[in-house]
Amino acid sequence: MNLEEYKGVFIYAQQVDNELSGISFELLGKAKDLAADLNTNVTAVLIGSDVKNLCDALAEYGADRVIVVDDPELKVYRTEPYTHALASVINEFKPEIMLVGATAIGRDLGPRVSARVATGLTADCTKLEIGDFPLNPGPNQKHNQLLMTRPAFGGNTIATIACPDNRPQMATVRPGVMQRITPVKGAKAEIVEFNPGFTPNKNYVEILDVVKSVTDTVDIMDAKILVSGGRGVGSPENFKILEDLAKAIGGEVSCSRAVVDNGWMPKDLQVGQTGKTVRPQIYFAIGISGAIQHVAGMEESDVIIAINKDETAPIFEVADYGLVGDLNKIVPKLTEAIKEY
Ligand code: FAD
Repeated sequence: MNLEEYKGVFIYAQQVDNELSGISFELLGKAKDLAADLNTNVTAVLIGSDVKNLCDALAEYGADRVIVVDDPELKVYRTEPYTHALASVINEFKPEIMLVGATAIGRDLGPRVSARVATGLTADCTKLEIGDFPLNPGPNQKHNQLLMTRPAFGGNTIATIACPDNRPQMATVRPGVMQRITPVKGAKAEIVEFNPGFTPNKNYVEILDVVKSVTDTVDIMDAKILVSGGRGVGSPENFKILEDLAKAIGGEVSCSRAVVDNGWMPKDLQVGQTGKTVRPQIYFAIGISGAIQHVAGMEESDVIIAINKDETAPIFEVADYGLVGDLNKIVPKLTEAIKEY
């Protein structure tokens, strides 16, 4: 493999029902940083059916070029045709770096594509940067490598992984971790249409029906204020006091894994390493001890307010404001005070 042939930072622009997923903008934000370090440009790979209308948004969020694979066969995400499409783009355009969101779709697509193009993949990255590998100087150290960082061993250690001998360097990236740029209104990208060729009815999985979950709550990853409860809340009924606080302050309720494991709250409200990564303006951690796996999902919040009866709880190490005491007394008083304010 001639590594020199591989150029540019590519992202997979995930769309569902002709709407770009938030991760696509986050990947573009990160790709711009990496491309600046490598003195190269950013390409978004857009795959679907009748999706060309999405190119402008990708340009406004940082894509210099959009490669569009548009085919009726790609109307709904299915593993086989999407793998064929993305792997074909990689073989044709030879990116140095290929980033995919660690969403349900990306976790399915990324590993398949990496196997198809015979390169490695680092899954579920929380940090990406350009640097030297191995990290310590030595005769075989290579420069300008993609250093891909992710928690390992249940979050007890952080692994930095590189792919020095193969291209592209591929990673899936956790949603909610990378920051999108402020969009540049009217920005334009070069549009390249690419047709890898599809054989209709080639034993692809057939989607018979798509049933969408209906909810009237905001996804916790989009919430500006989160009122998060842990095992210390004591019971599912007692989450009412957190819901009252969330309502008073205009936020949403989320929780720790202990709460989900107890069956008190649904899994899609879980924050942390095996839940969602959130970055709200205000994060209340109420009756949450602050285990490393929880903190991994909320430490980037702008302001963290912890309420815990144990003054030695690790959550106070990451909190901007801490209240030591019984949440059953503190939270209702706080709610009343906010209502009066
Ligand atoms: P606890 O650790 O039991 O803490 C309860 C806290 O409430 C205590 O600090 C206590 O002092 C306080 N408290 C009790 N009563 C009151 C009261 N009346 N007033 C005020 N404070 C009170 N966890 C996650 O959250 N998210 C994850 O994604 C996640 N992923 C994991 C992945 C792996 C591989 C592993 C091994 C673990 C993971 N965990 C995760 C679990 C994590 O290690 C902790 O067990 C969990 O976060 C603890 O939840 P908690 O803080 O609610 O409960």
